Amino acid sequence: MQKLMGNAVYGGIGRGVIKFFHRDEVVISKARVVDTLRELRRFAYARNEVIEELKQLYNQAVTEVGEDEAQIFMIHQMIIDDNQYVSSMEKLILNEHCNAEFAVVRTVKVFSKMMSDMSSESEYISERIADIRDVSARLLRHIQNRDEKVFKLEEMSVVCADDFLPSETIMLDKSKVAAICTSYGSANSHTAILARTRGIPCIIGIGEELKETLENKYCIVDSYSGIMYIEPDNETAKLLDHKEAVEGRKRELLTRLRGRKNITRDGREIEVLANICDLTDIESAKTNDCGGIGLLRSEYLYNNKEDYPDEEVQFYNYRRVLTEMQGKPVVIRTMDIGADSDLEYFGFEHEKNPALGFRSIRVCLSRPEIFKTQLRALFRASVYGDLRILFPLIIDVSEIIRIKEIVDEVKAELIHDNKPFKDNIPLGALIETPAAVMLSDLLAQNVDFFAIGTNDLEQYSNAIYRYNPNFEQICPDDHICVLRMIKMVCDNAHAHGIKAYICGELGADTDYTEVFLDLHVDGLSVTPTNILTVRKTIRSLNLSDRRQVRQNIQKHLKC
Ligand code: PEP
Ligand code: MG
Repeated sequence: MQKLMGNAVYGGIGRGVIKFFHRDEVVISKARVVDTLRELRRFAYARNEVIEELKQLYNQAVTEVGEDEAQIFMIHQMIIDDNQYVSSMEKLILNEHCNAEFAVVRTVKVFSKMMSDMSSESEYISERIADIRDVSARLLRHIQNRDEKVFKLEEMSVVCADDFLPSETIMLDKSKVAAICTSYGSANSHTAILARTRGIPCIIGIGEELKETLENKYCIVDSYSGIMYIEPDNETAKLLDHKEAVEGRKRELLTRLRGRKNITRDGREIEVLANICDLTDIESAKTNDCGGIGLLRSEYLYNNKEDYPDEEVQFYNYRRVLTEMQGKPVVIRTMDIGADSDLEYFGFEHEKNPALGFRSIRVCLSRPEIFKTQLRALFRASVYGDLRILFPLIIDVSEIIRIKEIVDEVKAELIHDNKPFKDNIPLGALIETPAAVMLSDLLAQNVDFFAIGTNDLEQYSNAIYRYNPNFEQICPDDHICVLRMIKMVCDNAHAHGIKAYICGELGADTDYTEVFLDLHVDGLSVTPTNILTVRKTIRSLNLSDRRQVRQNIQKHLKC
């Protein structure tokens, strides 16, 4: 038995014979054409064929995988219709007297370079480059009058490749695909997204060890753990059978609850949103049927980097979340980074207690140039959905006032630069310090919503460093202090007509779901995989017995 490891994209168990997918790569060289008008006609004919083919593929994909995933072919149609793209090729044919094939190859090169120069690290840009390559390969095939190579599978197969072009995965015959494994690729690539949507177990980034010498070997793919078992022994096969049964039961429960309301038996409704750490979590948030994103921790854009992320990178990332959520609310928290972050480019001074020092909104307010870049990107992205901006570690109203001044400066700059944005984006305070709790009546008059960050609130109110290995032993396990704070924050929020929701881990603790509902918390934002359990609990509750509700509050809050 051989084991290969990679990054799990969509959890499942797939069994089949390994088959490598080959693309028919062709070598294109430059040739001089005398009759450029004839060459232009050859190009135009091929382009029309591509347009027709993409329309058909779109219709086929809509029926097979749904409107959302079929959008790939819409994007491809937009590319083949794009003036710049088309005229670049036409100009090359006319001005350089080159063959149409060469014009395509050169255009792809120029466009890819131009786009990666704009933002080499943006997943969004990499995907658009992949789309241009994909459409161009199709165009080349039509110019050369070659038939599309059909990748025919005769038996249940684990389909392997270096990576797939977006349209290649969608064309795979799902009835024969047990799993997809690639050497490279990112969790946000179309391959990954489509595998998730089609429910195909998928592992990416296995690396060079995924060799063609494995062709035709039997394999079990465990994409819950990101492991390929090649020629597995009996014991492993049995363990994986068991895992599949357990996970299958969990998933069945999930599908039954999708689309249902987060409503108690007596009709109290509450929002259940997702906390996500980067773009790769969006899919899970969607699969688990979140009501929106309650917290996007934007630090991922700054972590493991050599320099500050520029406005474009940030803009593409925020826009991506907003478009993916299709009008559902998306709360993006401005960066929460401090001296404990190990990021040299921030040039932080060493601090003895970074958790109590120069971090988060304090960094943003003392270095407005960094803050403004993020705000510009956020405001520009705001036109793509229902964006709300959340400011962390607030301890005073004066910070909100200063934030709003900076926001106004950013808006004025965007107007000056002719960049569209929404003017009325809700601005919220993350209530995660005792100071913010005690001032929540005043803060409520200055912001549009509250998010209660119970993780830091536990740390700061109980005076226990949150990464202290003995945290659980020291912290009172009834959470009474934080529960009382939640009550105070909710009361103050509602007295001033704004909403308050919980986005710390406590929000997902179903022992307290009833208490949160009793306290009229407006929403719970939890890790995507917890959405189902929280929803199930909400749907099992009945708050109509007032006496019992009062007892419950008394029991937990002792008041
Ligand atoms: C919190 O403190 O509860 C919170 C939501 O933010 P983080 O865990 O990122 O500090
Ligand atoms: Mg926090």
